[in-house]
Amino acid sequence: MKESKEKPIGLAARPTRPQEFYDNIKRKYAEERDRRLNYRPNGTAQYTSDFSGALSRYEVDPYAAEAPAREPINDTVEVLFIGGGFSALLTSARLREHGVESIRIVERGADVGGTWYWNRYPGVACDVVAYDYLPLLDELDYVPKDHYARGPEIFAHCQAIARKYNLYELATFQTTVTSTVWDPAEQMWNIATDRGDRMKARFVICANGTLSKPKLAKIKGLETFKGHSFHTSRWDYAYTRPDLSGLEDKVVGIIGTGATAVQAIPGLGAAAKELYVFQRTPSSIDVRDDWPTDPNWARRLPQGWQSRRRTLARMEPQMTDAQKAKQAAMSPEEKIRRQENANIEAMMKIHQRIDAIVKDKATADALKPWYMLMCKRPCFHNDYLPTFNRPNVHLVDTKGKGITEIEEKGPVFEGKQYELDVLIYATGFEVQKTGIYNQIKGENGLELNDKYREGIRTLLGIHSQGYPNLFIMGGYQASFQFNLTDMLQAQGDHIAACIDYARRHGFQSIDVTREAEEWWVQEVIKHRGKTSRNQECTPGYYNFEGEFQRRQDGNYNGGFFQYCSHLSEVQKRMDEHFAFDKK
Ligand code: NDP
Repeated sequence: MKESKEKPIGLAARPTRPQEFYDNIKRKYAEERDRRLNYRPNGTAQYTSDFSGALSRYEVDPYAAEAPAREPINDTVEVLFIGGGFSALLTSARLREHGVESIRIVERGADVGGTWYWNRYPGVACDVVAYDYLPLLDELDYVPKDHYARGPEIFAHCQAIARKYNLYELATFQTTVTSTVWDPAEQMWNIATDRGDRMKARFVICANGTLSKPKLAKIKGLETFKGHSFHTSRWDYAYTRPDLSGLEDKVVGIIGTGATAVQAIPGLGAAAKELYVFQRTPSSIDVRDDWPTDPNWARRLPQGWQSRRRTLARMEPQMTDAQKAKQAAMSPEEKIRRQENANIEAMMKIHQRIDAIVKDKATADALKPWYMLMCKRPCFHNDYLPTFNRPNVHLVDTKGKGITEIEEKGPVFEGKQYELDVLIYATGFEVQKTGIYNQIKGENGLELNDKYREGIRTLLGIHSQGYPNLFIMGGYQASFQFNLTDMLQAQGDHIAACIDYARRHGFQSIDVTREAEEWWVQEVIKHRGKTSRNQECTPGYYNFEGEFQRRQDGNYNGGFFQYCSHLSEVQKRMDEHFAFDKK
């Protein structure tokens, strides 16, 4: 298998310098974090995802014609998914294996794919190894084309899953669920949509994604900009043209330098007359160790190869006896200190790579991230940094302040007006609002939003008491995995097992008990806040933009292996965790 010469830096770097060096870097990290917190004390409220009124055009689907008129649907299905991305696809595959026939996906987009439907910006790809990220490879007898998959291949894979499991038949696209209300008499969910549908479903699965709702920074004068503008998840190829040749004579601006922008900027830099990159906080850019899949390797893969990889990913990391003894002898403070020093070493290597690639010193310095690796999503790209050597590409480093003002002609920073033809917002997405914004009303008419107001309460991040037959995927109180599909697969397998159990026993409904829910809330609390990492990190969506969070209002930090063990324990002892209704 062909491998690239340069290897990713990762976290393997060894701390070898005097402690004072690391302490100084930590002080610099704290200064940079504080400066950002001071600039934006309003935390998550600095953003909006309410795209009504003048902002509504930022949410229009550019990939499909306006939804054709259709009659409202008033039928009953057994399982209904809100959202048609990987969550729905993975779980449906397992439900089909359990013999569930009546499955409907209700999806806002015009096809399945979720994030891979919406994110079609130039350069879109996934930096989790494709053989792990693309799910159901055994079932579809498919081997990805490259070590890292590009967006179009992943989107096509989603469509292939939907075809294989016959999910298009009942699916309703270009349809948004507006309310989901439990009917205790019928033991059914009533689902209303923006297309006038009134559907019923025995089971509802909130599969509406972890990062699905685009957001914009609330920038003064944003709506006054007279040029063209769009969000990266609604890429306007009619304007840019598919090969970006439409930008040849255009001055382009992009706000944001997160994982999306890092992938889009190389293509923009190559295509645009001029490109201005408005940076608030730089991303860490590691090597992207990519290669085309070796056909001989692919041919030799045994049956069930991916499922074996998934099993390995779920296993507890193994340590030798010597490693265990060394760990045990170390105080918690010493452990944290060593981890932090190793992390700083890795970040310094990221800095050195910038110096080696970016020719202009001021630009190189501005591109250096000053925070612990993993405070923000680490990025991997081989063309991002060299793009800043192009004479037509200009980094506008706002040193943590961000763009706060936009006028008719473009953004203004430190009194300078940047005149643009087109402004692209790479400002990200609302995080993990799954299961919250579809007006879900449970047993006693209580909205899930209202129940969560006093703190999120679930079992495994999936079940919430008082919401029978409702399953939440990719939400809070579940494990966090860099490879999200591993996590979604684990949840999907569990949900399919629960539904199968209810069906086999003739139960109409399954609801988590209060005790089981309370147990999980305490588990989440126990495992959160072991370090002060969240507070020490530069603000971003990983740490709720620096806002205070109740300990239960986040992910389960006990590790993926533990999370999966809990899933299977719960499945083994269903009676202890759930109440059932036979009607
Ligand atoms: P992010 O939320 O990661 O990035 C938003 C960016 O906008 C940040 O750089 C932020 O700066 C910046 N920003 C916000 N407001 C302003 C402002 N007023 N002025 C200047 N800059 C501003 O969104 P992304 O879409 O980049 O990524 C979201 C997630 O999607 C990723 O974290 C990842 O999980 C996933 N993803 C994965 C990819 C992969 O596999 N490679 C590719 C793309 C996305 P600041 O940092 O200071 O807040």
